[in-house]
Amino acid sequence: MKSTNQHPSIFSLEKSKSIFKSIKLCLILFSFCWIISCKQNQKNETTEDNVSTLVRPAFSSDSAYTFIEQQLAFGPRVPGTTAQQKCADYFERKLKNYGANVITQKTNVYIYNGKSVPCINVIASYNPEVKRRLMLCAHWDSRPFADQADSAVATPIMAADDGASGAAVLLETARQLQQKNPIIGIDLIFLDVEDYGQPEYELNQKQGDFYCLGTQYWCKNPHVPNYTAENGILLDMVGAKDATFTFEGVSMMYAPMFMKQVWLNAEQLGFGNFFVRENTAQIIDDHYYINTIAKIPTIDIINRTHRTASGFAKHWHTHDDNINIISKQTLQAVGETMLATIYNF
Ligand SMILES: [Zn+2]
Repeated sequence: MKSTNQHPSIFSLEKSKSIFKSIKLCLILFSFCWIISCKQNQKNETTEDNVSTLVRPAFSSDSAYTFIEQQLAFGPRVPGTTAQQKCADYFERKLKNYGANVITQKTNVYIYNGKSVPCINVIASYNPEVKRRLMLCAHWDSRPFADQADSAVATPIMAADDGASGAAVLLETARQLQQKNPIIGIDLIFLDVEDYGQPEYELNQKQGDFYCLGTQYWCKNPHVPNYTAENGILLDMVGAKDATFTFEGVSMMYAPMFMKQVWLNAEQLGFGNFFVRENTAQIIDDHYYINTIAKIPTIDIINRTHRTASGFAKHWHTHDDNINIISKQTLQAVGETMLATIYNF
């Protein structure tokens, strides 16, 4: 308002001085931002190189251990029993409490002897609207027979490791996802009727895909139409003392790079004694169907050993698969590796 009687040339000199000052200020600000951004990049590079320094919530193996005890308290979670129904309700309740979008799939599947049994898959999703997804899954049912025991019997096993341990790691992961929302979408899938294959003591062994029935159903009927994920991780028998997780053959066939990344994450966290770089034979587990039917490159984190003829730990499909076999150190190794993989994905 006051500039009306100001001489035009004085005005223009003043203007050019102020433009010069502004340019100088911009240059100083630009250099300052550039230095900051270089420092930030350096920091990001080190974070990406080593997951041990990654900002992520802390996995609690005490909590995961309690989740195993709570599942076992229902009794063996055999399809068709009240324990199955109660345990499915428990998962649904817990997962809703941990802020997940929960979808429960209820159906019936035909087992090896032609009988139909109820099957309940529980799916918990975080950030359902995000396109980039990682899927983690585990079967939660108990085998109805102890057919690998020295004196095999047709009584259900408690399945603390072969079932409850994987589901417990997923539940603790859900609890931590609620604490710190990841940038990617996560689906945690509790798969039913994995372990109702024909007992080995029966003479007339039938040919067919009688294991992983809940997974086969989910692959053909995903909880949302056209569901897919960038990668999948199956957790099976992830809670026993002195467990070793190896480069299992089917996983290495469909997702070798991802498997090596997960093993590297584990090593950087100090769990190289659990996640060993050793190749083991291909096995038919839930991940086989997820790779071949759902076409999601999925790895199996499963306890494998060269010490037994079967390649599975001694307690596998026996009554020794109870709470005494569970180790918090193993649960910690798997759980921490899962969180590092999620927050570094
Ligand atoms: Zn099993």
